[in-house]
This record gives sequence, structure tokens and C-alpha cells, in this order.
Amino acid sequence: MSEDRRTELSELGEFGLIDTLTKEFKNINASSIYGIGDDAAVIRANDEESLLVSTDMLVEGVHFNLMYTPLKHLGYKAVVVNISDICAMNGAPEQITVSIAVSNRFPKEALEELYEGIKRACDFYKVDLVGGDTTSSLSGLMISVTAIGRAKNEDVVYRNGAKENDLLVVTGDLGAAYMGLQILEREKEVYKANPDIQPDLDGYDYLLERQLKPEARKDIIGFLKDLDVKPTSMIDISDGLASEIFHLCKQSNVGCNLYDEKIPIDTKVSTTAIDFNISPATCALNGGEDYELLFTVSQEDFDKIKGNPHMTVIGHMTDASSGKYLVDKQGAAFPLKAQGWNHFSDAAG
Ligand code: ADP
Ligand code: MG
Repeated sequence: MSEDRRTELSELGEFGLIDTLTKEFKNINASSIYGIGDDAAVIRANDEESLLVSTDMLVEGVHFNLMYTPLKHLGYKAVVVNISDICAMNGAPEQITVSIAVSNRFPKEALEELYEGIKRACDFYKVDLVGGDTTSSLSGLMISVTAIGRAKNEDVVYRNGAKENDLLVVTGDLGAAYMGLQILEREKEVYKANPDIQPDLDGYDYLLERQLKPEARKDIIGFLKDLDVKPTSMIDISDGLASEIFHLCKQSNVGCNLYDEKIPIDTKVSTTAIDFNISPATCALNGGEDYELLFTVSQEDFDKIKGNPHMTVIGHMTDASSGKYLVDKQGAAFPLKAQGWNHFSDAAG
């Protein structure tokens, strides 16, 4: 650090900071196949298989608010977000470690609830809890999960393999987790203003479930194998569709045309978004935490995924110099903007 210059983290952004901190590190072990920059690191296990490693930390007040996040759901979600990263490499999750820092405001019973959620995720995704660490914190709760997965060497899919003319495909539907968060935040404000008013959460089950109890698309990895489709690139949608498209385009050195009307959005998301004066497309593009998979496939694979209820073709990749565009119904193209979450901006989410 220079003596007279102080660089604010908000100037760098999250990815700028990671780049700055890690640029001097070079892999020296032959088994370190891929390090920083994808959903998980790839470590060669043997001639046939690789291990996949991903880690994510959730911090109270930054990633979750215990006013409306049940601890059981939090435990479940902390596991899911890591399993999602293993799936995004086209691998199968097998183990997790869990580390927690807790203030003494939490009784044993609260932490047991957290671990009930972790257990449920382990059972559902068939992963083993094999270790972790426990320490105290001066304020709040932090939970860090590391997931370990496995894939055949030739099956691993990176963010950097998309080619011009490949089709861009997304699983499930987008924007629901973001709208779920808006509902919870609205009811929190109502409660703060008058604790006697009961929260009005009726009719928002789908949105709330997508926010509080997301699932990783492990099923998709099985479907792709059954269909004999290996994506050319893949990423999971943790920060919003636009920002993930930027990652695929940057790392694959391609451009993209994304078709506005093709983006799968549930009716409940659209109607609620309109009530909130937000455009439904914005929820899908810039909302986060859907944990769906975004991938590219070669045009030759189109027949194999056509009509699949879990997958929607939303665009195609172009030459890098063509840029990245959002194309509307009338065919007008607008430069795609990636807002995503920036944990170091003033409006940190
Ligand atoms: P994801 O959104 O898939 O969880 P991130 O955006 O958190 O991935 O991280 C991007 C890449 O940077 C990953 O390869 C991650 O392992 C790496 N990374 C993030 N923070 C650090 C750090 N503090 N030190 C080293 N590597 C990091
Ligand atoms: Mg990811």
C-alpha cells in the first residue's frame, strides 16, 4: 500500500478487488488445473477425474436479515449456493465443510435450527458434511460453506468455452427470488412502523420460496447427460442474468444477442413487479439469487434441447466486436447493461 494514497473499495468493485489481490499468485502444482475465475476451482484427481472446489460466505446484515430469514432456511441456502457452483462446472457435489462465527446472542437452539437446514440440504443433494470450524464473533452471524464435487476430466465445463453462433440457454425462470426479497423488505418496513400489523405474505408463496429456500439445479446436470449434451460454457445465476452473460462473454471472448421476450419469467413475478413499479425484465436481468444455470450449446444440439420444459433458448453468441445486446420484440437492439450486486458500492445489497 502506498503511503499517501488510499483506494476506496467502491472504486475497485468486487471483481477489481479480487484481481488486485490475487494477480501475483500463479499455480505451481500440476494438479491445479484451473484456479480463480470460474464457479469452482478444478483440481486433477487422477487420469479420469477432477475434484471441484467452491466456497461462499454469508454475512448477517449483508446477505441475510434474521428478521425474516428463518435459521433453518439460512442453513439450507448456505449449502445450496455452493452446490449450485459445483453444478455450474457440470459436476456432482459430494462433500461440504461448514464454518460459523457466532455472537453469544445466539442460544444453542438457534444454531441447532441452522444445522437442521444444513442437514436437510445434505440429505436432499446427497452430500456429506465432513468438517468445518466454529468461532465467536463480536456481532452477528457468519457462515462459510465449502463444497467439493467431482467430474470426469472431459466433462468439466468452464465459463470460457462459448463460441460465436452458440445458443444461449437458461434453466427454470428468473426474477422470482428478487421479487421475494422486495416483498420481505416491504413487510419488514410495515412491521417496523407498526409491530401490531401482521405481515401480508398471502399469495406470494412462490416468490418467498425462491428467495428463502432456493434450489441448485443438480437435476439439470443429469438431464444434460441423458440428452448427451455438453454445454460449451456454463455459469450459475447468482447475480442476475445480465451480469452472468457479461462473465460468459468476457471469458469466452464473444458477444451476445439476448432476446427480451424469450426470458422466462413467471406470471407471479410479472404481476408483482408491475405492482412495485419495476419492469419484470429488470428483475430477471439485474435481480439476483435465482441459482438457475446459464449455458451455451452448439447449434447442432438444438434439436436435443428444443421443447425441453426446463430449458429456454434466450439468445445466441456473436463475434466479440459486435458487442452485447438486448433485442426487443420489434427488433430494436439496446446495449446490455450489467448492474448485478456490488458489495462495495454505497447501495450494497
Ligand atoms: P461465484 O459468484 O461463482 O461464487 P465469485 O464471484 O465469488 O464466484 O468469485 C469469483 C472468483 O474469484 C472465484 O474463482 C473465487 O474463488 C475467487 N475469489 C473470490 N474471492 C477471493 C479471495 N478473497 N481470494 C482468492 N480468490 C477469490
Ligand atoms: Mg457461481
